[in-house]
Amino acid sequence: MARRKQVYEGKAKILFEGPESGTLIQYFKDDATAFNNKKHAVITGKGVLNNRISEYLMMKLHDVGIPTHFVRRLNMREQLIREVEIIPIEVVVRNIAAGSLGKRLGIEDGTLLPRSIVEYYLKSDELGDPMVSEEHITAFGWASYQEIDEIMSMSLRVNDFLSGLFLGVGLKLVDFKLEFGRLWEDEDMRLVLADEISPDNCRLWDVKTNERLDKDRFRQDLGKVEEGYQEIARRLGILPEAGPRDMRGPETMQ
Ligand code: UDP
Repeated sequence: MARRKQVYEGKAKILFEGPESGTLIQYFKDDATAFNNKKHAVITGKGVLNNRISEYLMMKLHDVGIPTHFVRRLNMREQLIREVEIIPIEVVVRNIAAGSLGKRLGIEDGTLLPRSIVEYYLKSDELGDPMVSEEHITAFGWASYQEIDEIMSMSLRVNDFLSGLFLGVGLKLVDFKLEFGRLWEDEDMRLVLADEISPDNCRLWDVKTNERLDKDRFRQDLGKVEEGYQEIARRLGILPEAGPRDMRGPETMQ
C-alpha cells in the first residue's frame, strides 16, 4: 500500500490509483461516522465485511443487468473499480419508515410505506447533505433530465432485486442509499452504480424480530455493531471466514 498514490479519502473508504488508467482501488476502512461526522468510532472488522458484502451485492446486480463500477475484489479490504465521474447526489430509496423520514414527517418507525419512495440529497458535508428535488438537480446542472430518469428507474430496479434477495435470507430492506457515476468509454458515456452497498448505507431488519443489524446499531448505541454486519454476511453465505473462494449460496429462511 505504501507507494500507491492516494486519490481521495472519505469517511469509510480510501481511493488509490489503480493498476491501469481508468481504474481505482477502493480500500474499506473500519471507521464509522454518523450525524454528519459528529460521532466517530472504529469498528474492528467492519471494512472487511463491507468489502465482501458490497462485492457480493454488486456482482448479483451485475448478473441481472445493472451496470456497476465494480471489477473484482483484490483482497480482504480492497476492490478494483472503474473510475467514474461521481454525480453529486445521494439517492435514498425507502420501503419502510425509519430515520430522517420518520422524524421529518412524523411517521412512526416501522410503518410500511404506501409505495417505495425515492429521495435525493446533495452530497455536501459542509451543508449536511440537504434534501433536493429534481428541479434543483436539473436547474443547477448536477444531472440532466435524462440522467435523473435513468437514476430513478435504476434505483427502483435495484430496490426490487435487493428487497427480494434480502427477504430470502430473512431480512427486510427498510431503506438504502445509492450513488451513481458517469463512465466514459471514448465518446460514449453511461451511468453506472458506484460507491458501495453495505450495512453502512442500508437499513436491514430481521423479518421476525425487527432487530436492527445495520449501522443503526452504531447510530443508536445498540452495541454489537460488528456482530450485526457479520450476521448479514452469514445469512448471505459470504462470511470472510469461509474463505474468499468458498462462496456458499444464500441461506433460505422459512
Ligand atoms: N444514508 C447513507 N448516507 C448518508 C445518509 C443516509 O448511507 O449520508 C443511508 C442510511 O444508512 C439509510 C438511508 O440512507 O439506510 C436513509 O437515511 P436517512 O435519510 O433516514 O438518514 P439518517 O437517519 O441515516 O440520518
